[in-house]
Amino acid sequence: MEILDGKNLSAKIKDELKSSISSQLKTPILAVITIGDDEASKVYVNNKKKACEYVGMSFLHVYFNENDSEEKVIKKIKQLNKDENINGIILQLPIPKNFNEDKIINTISPSKDVDGLTDISISNLYNNKEGFIPCTPKGILEIFNYYKIDLEGKNVVVVGRSKLVGKPIFLECLKRNATCTICHTKTKDLKEFTKNADILIVATGCKYLIDKNMIKKDAILIDVGISRCEDGKLYGDINPNVDDKCKCKTPVPGGVGPMTVVMLLKNTFIAYKNQNGIKDE
Ligand code: NAD
Repeated sequence: MEILDGKNLSAKIKDELKSSISSQLKTPILAVITIGDDEASKVYVNNKKKACEYVGMSFLHVYFNENDSEEKVIKKIKQLNKDENINGIILQLPIPKNFNEDKIINTISPSKDVDGLTDISISNLYNNKEGFIPCTPKGILEIFNYYKIDLEGKNVVVVGRSKLVGKPIFLECLKRNATCTICHTKTKDLKEFTKNADILIVATGCKYLIDKNMIKKDAILIDVGISRCEDGKLYGDINPNVDDKCKCKTPVPGGVGPMTVVMLLKNTFIAYKNQNGIKDE
């Protein structure tokens, strides 16, 4: 069984980005908006900050407390949209329930929507037009490219139908001529679907949902799930007992997770180049 090593690949991409950014006249800037004090978000935001610093990007943390008004947040996003020095803007999720997530996200200019979550970005993805796609599916596609995994004609089964992972990766696989199926909590007999998958992408957050009996021999497995358990360790959605049956898989940790952060940097650098009229060589 081969490991699809997201940790190494992400380090390689980070170094490439660092080198490209060092030759720019200006420093790309990512603005991250947080509302409230979600503990997990603090860790994620800090990881993004460290990754930005590593590649030579600036990181602007815009913090609101949960008693701030939605209007204040929206006003700030409009300012950031206009600010020529700001290249990417993301809203760190989750946000407190009293804020309208949809309205806030859709205030972000599509040209700076490096998380690919505005309605316009989603419409671009749906219509096969250029635009930003969410970072986790983008990271999975980088893994497919790097490991030369061709999707054409393959049976791809995606478990999970979220806006952040399941739906966009489903559409991207379809775009690459895979035959795609999407499963979710209401799917009857999940195994009937997963055991036919040449490529199985699992994004549920249910520890070890998929085991050896549910996969096809020599399947390619992409494990997106992250469950932090009482022992303090992180677990994926796929049971390690698949190891002697599958062809390859992404580990947890060290698979899709590190790719996600790097794709945020990559999208921000693309936004920077688009906004500054810089073409790739
Ligand atoms: P979500 O809660 O929005 O969606 C989960 C999806 O899984 C739902 O569509 C649901 O129908 C499906 N699901 C849940 N239990 C199921 C079951 N027993 N059988 C079939 N389907 C089931 O979550 P999300 O944002 O898509 O994230 C999914 C997981 O991926 C989480 O563990 C999250 O932490 C992780 N995640 C990891 C990264 C990363 O960078 N590695 C990024 C985003 C999300």
